[in-house]
Amino acid sequence: MIYLDHNATTPVNPAVAKLVGDVLIEGGNPSSVHGAGRLARRRLEVAREQVALLVGADPRHVLFTASGTEANNQALRGFPGHTILTSAIEHDAVLKSSEGAGRIPVDSLGRIDLEALEKLLDGLSGPVLVSVMLANNETGVVQPVRAVANLVHARGGLLHCDAVQGPGRLPMDIRVLGADLLTLSAHKMGGAPGAAALIFREGAEPAALLRGGGQERSRRAGTENVPAIAGFGLAASLAGESLILMTHVEALRDQLAEDLKARGGVIIAEEAERLPNTLCVALPGKPAETQVMTLDLAGFAVSAGSACSSGKVKRSHVLVAMGLPDEIAGSAIRLSLSPATSADELARFVAAWARMTG
Ligand code: PLP
Repeated sequence: MIYLDHNATTPVNPAVAKLVGDVLIEGGNPSSVHGAGRLARRRLEVAREQVALLVGADPRHVLFTASGTEANNQALRGFPGHTILTSAIEHDAVLKSSEGAGRIPVDSLGRIDLEALEKLLDGLSGPVLVSVMLANNETGVVQPVRAVANLVHARGGLLHCDAVQGPGRLPMDIRVLGADLLTLSAHKMGGAPGAAALIFREGAEPAALLRGGGQERSRRAGTENVPAIAGFGLAASLAGESLILMTHVEALRDQLAEDLKARGGVIIAEEAERLPNTLCVALPGKPAETQVMTLDLAGFAVSAGSACSSGKVKRSHVLVAMGLPDEIAGSAIRLSLSPATSADELARFVAAWARMTG
């Protein structure tokens, strides 16, 4: 199987897998006062510093959660009384935890419409929380988070940024981005599933979602997943290694785009700044679900923005928000690479993809 679905989950780094296994066997509950507990606590606090360092945050402001979805829920539900605005292309973990919120439109390249945001902000009174992702998981389009932060802060509001797709692919610092809250998830960056974080800045502490224990300074009750969190810390400290390989990954991605275009592919948001590892490509006339299944049988793991539910293919809300016509939105698949992806694998992919065009 040639794996081209790194935006869904990227394989765990072998050093991380070893650490997770070791810490699992080590055991101990970080809330216990004995030696085993103190060791587990140390594992947790080292990881907190490693994750904080990745994004230029204060370790005291790193709140560990079990998933990016949970971190997004806590950000969006953690400020009762705030009016919420999110972009129209957020992950469901943001959209479904802010039902009834205002949605900021995007342009045809999938970039947030700053003028529309300004107008929406002008029409509001009272405290505001805005959520805009760093980079879209389907198209890879990078959002102008700093510019959004400036508008939101001028209005006295808070900005949450779902940065799950960023580590190891884009340089990222919470102070440079200007975000007040940031979501990360370990399994998108070489860590194990089961660990993620909501990172916040002074004055932007969200209310607890889970109650019933004093863990995470009472911000999130429940015994911590110390093995996965320790692995998350190591993955965070290794993200820089992946980042320096992104120029190479981007060159492979761009060659892939040229090869697919030459065979009838339509590249989505090609002119926009995108994650260097991500390519969203449509094959008009061929439903995305059919492509994903055909490619799976040929030995390639890719994904479709559209999801099949009760036998009906639902168009990707991201591509729909970009105003793409049905024949493009319904026939787009996502290819996401890693530094381990080779030119030879991509050449084999192009051959398999081209067989679908005949
Ligand atoms: N946000 C974005 C942009 C994502 O791509 C994903 C996962 O696909 C999530 C949030 C959810 O993260 P998790 O799988 O850790 O719940």
